[in-house]
Amino acid sequence: MNTIEQMIQNKAYELGYEKCGIIPVHAMKDYAEKFEERIQKVPESKMFYQGQRRLLNPLDKYPWAKSIVVLASRYGKYKIPKYVKDHIAKAYLFDIRVDANSKEFQNSQNLEQYMQQLGLKTAADHKFGIVGLRWAAMQAGLGIIRRNNFFYTQYGSWMHIEAWLTDKDMELIETHNLQKCPNGCNRCITACPTHSLSSPYTMLPTACISYLTTFGGRDLPHEPLRKNFGNCIYGCDVCQDVCPMNRGKWEENYNFPNLSELAPFLTPENILNMEEEFYRKQIQPKFFYLSGSELWKWKVDVLCFMGNNYQEKYKPYITAACENKNEKIREMAQLICSELYA
Ligand code: SF4
Ligand code: SF4
Repeated sequence: MNTIEQMIQNKAYELGYEKCGIIPVHAMKDYAEKFEERIQKVPESKMFYQGQRRLLNPLDKYPWAKSIVVLASRYGKYKIPKYVKDHIAKAYLFDIRVDANSKEFQNSQNLEQYMQQLGLKTAADHKFGIVGLRWAAMQAGLGIIRRNNFFYTQYGSWMHIEAWLTDKDMELIETHNLQKCPNGCNRCITACPTHSLSSPYTMLPTACISYLTTFGGRDLPHEPLRKNFGNCIYGCDVCQDVCPMNRGKWEENYNFPNLSELAPFLTPENILNMEEEFYRKQIQPKFFYLSGSELWKWKVDVLCFMGNNYQEKYKPYITAACENKNEKIREMAQLICSELYA
């Protein structure tokens, strides 16, 4: 007869999760130490990590919690439309945390229901995690964290991790056969365009393109790193794309719901021309790191991209943006004009 742990794992695999493990809450005991170490290595990152302190002691808020069910699902199996390839980071294109049409989102709901039917009390934060997700996944035997800070399974780093706290003592450690990063490999570090990733497991999040082009970077005209954003408009995958452990791991076998319809609206030109209403209804619910009133930030990101990857066809867009009613868009456009046409 199956234990409750096995029943949960079997259900997860039946639904299509790639990895599932269960750890006691105390298995996270070293996480706080690693967290502080991380800040000590890069003291400028202290403010950034303040918001994540809530992850250090889940028992403060959930004193009944006894174990953590950790799961990994693979998004490195979806077709990437050419309009957005290398411009929008893949984790955001295939963000299964918020897209109710995605199979993975539905799996998550089904599994939660199943655990509750088994009599478990559960808690989760589906958007931002209820514990340190990568650390929990490693403790649960799902895979390893590599030098670029990303979590890997046998499918590479293109994985979404989620976790539930439960009120039952449980443990079921998964296995993997992943090797550590090869000796001497530092491709991710040398490839990082802003040097945010400065040495193994060491980064300054506020210098990361994924931060600066999404919820950070509110003053890009005065941000010297903007010149290093390369092809990125929203998010960055460079330190994952160059990793040999990701080679051949992305297989474009499936269509992600609605993405092929949405992608043509996300070209640089179409983002600059986008209307507020369309943005609020069609784009923001998927790319939720920016609010419904922050289309301006997308437009500033695009102007930055156009400046860094200038082509003659961008000129009318940049020139028109110099007259935009939004001050931040105007400022960025005028700066790019002065740099390009002075
Ligand atoms: S996501 Fe991009 S900017 Fe951020 S650490 Fe990786 S390579 Fe650097
Ligand atoms: S690029 Fe090399 S060092 Fe960086 S995560 Fe991949 S294997 Fe590890």
